[in-house]
Amino acid sequence: MKFKRSIEAFDRAKTFIPGGVNSPVRAFKSVNMNPVFFKSGKGSKMIDIDDNEYIDCVSSWGPLIFGHANREIIDSVINASKNGTTYGASTEIETLVAKKIIDMVPSIDKVRMVNSGTEATMSAIRLARGYTKREKIIKFAGNYHGHGDSFLIKAGSGAVTLGLPDSPGVTKNIAKDTLIANFNDINSVEKLFKENQDEIAAIIVEPIAGNMGLVKPIENFLQGLRDLCDTNQSVLIFDEVMTGFRVSKGGAQQIYGVYPDITTLGKIIGGGLPVGAYGGKKEIMDMLAPNGPVYQAGTLSGNPLAMSAGLTILNMLNDDVYNKLETISKKIEDGWKKNIAETNTDAHISRQGSMLTLFFSKRKKIENYEDALTLDVDKYAKYFKEMLNLGVYLPPSQYECLFLSLVLDNDDIEKLINSNKIALKKIINE
Ligand SMILES: *Cc1c(COP(=O)(O)O)cnc(C)c1O
Repeated sequence: MKFKRSIEAFDRAKTFIPGGVNSPVRAFKSVNMNPVFFKSGKGSKMIDIDDNEYIDCVSSWGPLIFGHANREIIDSVINASKNGTTYGASTEIETLVAKKIIDMVPSIDKVRMVNSGTEATMSAIRLARGYTKREKIIKFAGNYHGHGDSFLIKAGSGAVTLGLPDSPGVTKNIAKDTLIANFNDINSVEKLFKENQDEIAAIIVEPIAGNMGLVKPIENFLQGLRDLCDTNQSVLIFDEVMTGFRVSKGGAQQIYGVYPDITTLGKIIGGGLPVGAYGGKKEIMDMLAPNGPVYQAGTLSGNPLAMSAGLTILNMLNDDVYNKLETISKKIEDGWKKNIAETNTDAHISRQGSMLTLFFSKRKKIENYEDALTLDVDKYAKYFKEMLNLGVYLPPSQYECLFLSLVLDNDDIEKLINSNKIALKKIINE
């Protein structure tokens, strides 16, 4: 494959945009490549500016569950835009979206719309702090909650990829209020509660972690968090920006049957437009301005184009969608597992529905951040490059998940399995 135009485009971009990108992982640093610049997408395919075609396994990091340029979603945005793009005042569709979210995610009584996942998590912890009148929060090493100051401490994916576990610019005072526990280790959480009695406002957790590769919660871990929050009157926040509407209609909480006080959402909820949301128990949500004292606002929050796309995609989600996604994803997992065995590669696959990671590691399991740090990122970089050249677009980092979409047809699946075998064979002796 030729990447001439992408190389030139990146050079130009670097002159005007820091690092040439508007979000670090797009720079392809961890796979040692020039980033690819795209110009269009249709269904399961994306086309780059050199006219190379790829099967897309990233789906814009989750939102494109129905593939690129889905007719219904595009039409809803076009129709909404004919009436203007924003009013900065209330519209009825905001209530329709809120009601839809509440119907789908049972632990949410009321929900506030924002413009990104980062905004949702930042606002959620402010709310939890205002509600409990406490300042400290617990987060897990390797969990990512967007780029809010309080979360940029052992933050997974982007930060791990660049080797920046802590970011300059985050003050010591903010960092000291973020306590770090180990994912899948309830004792590490219990210890923090003991050492900080009556000081912990909230635990924030990715109930299925997707930002150190896909790491599922071990048995009783989520219930353990629920119990500790109940005992200590702390707020349990599930960050379902990634898992919400992706692993099931009701998110990870529905799968595990453990319900948080606040849920943060993003990605799928905007159908490909910039949207986030946070919602939860009525008594907590009613602490928000204008009802209560906790302030949070947004000029473009609940934007009519974004709400139209969001409502359309949420209305399209039903049990058939998740069954079909499971069938597609399982076929790919099975094919890749067979290839891994046949090529004797030190690797395994972790999957929950349409989210999956192929881990290059001698370990059989990756359960936390420490495990994730042992992954063979050089091997992943080689694998990524081979797959890209074969026309398969994967996440440009070992610490990210694939997000499979409904529009992958049997030809795509066959190509994904064959390409994986070719790529694994090629890198095995390097
Ligand atoms: C992507 C992500 C975020 C941040 O969302 P943005 O829209 O990128 O700000 C927060 N939490 C999780 C779990 C995510 O995967």
